[in-house]
Amino acid sequence: MKSALRPYLEKRNFDVTSEPTGGKATHGALSFVVQKHAATRLHYDFRLELDGTLKRWAVPKGPSFEGTIPKGQYGAGEVIVWDNGTWEPVGDPRAGYRAGKLKFRLHGKKLHGGWTLVRMHGREGERQEPWLLIKERDDEARPASE
Ligand code: MN
Repeated sequence: MKSALRPYLEKRNFDVTSEPTGGKATHGALSFVVQKHAATRLHYDFRLELDGTLKRWAVPKGPSFEGTIPKGQYGAGEVIVWDNGTWEPVGDPRAGYRAGKLKFRLHGKKLHGGWTLVRMHGREGERQEPWLLIKERDDEARPASE
């Protein structure tokens, strides 16, 4: 586990950090982590480091990571690190995040290859906008397994 991730794993408010921001990478690569979270409903929290924070999505459907996912709220329950590694944006990640279409490559222990997060239009009054996490059809795509 990279030391840069440790503060995030030790406190519940993963979206606030006292670490310096400004996009100056201290060790070059951006981190990602996938946590398996045994809350009332088992889900996976998918986190991408960007500008010193870990952006977070809750993924209810497991390692295939297909389907509609809400931006998650932290809940009670055991959390284990299911995968971690580095990620590589394809294009400008800030513009992509704002525009609701973030393309990237993962270099994890389990997850690899090209992925896209796409923000969907939520229902009127919906507090959390759902996103889709889509695996590119590349050589790294394989059936879900645990
Ligand atoms: Mn969670």
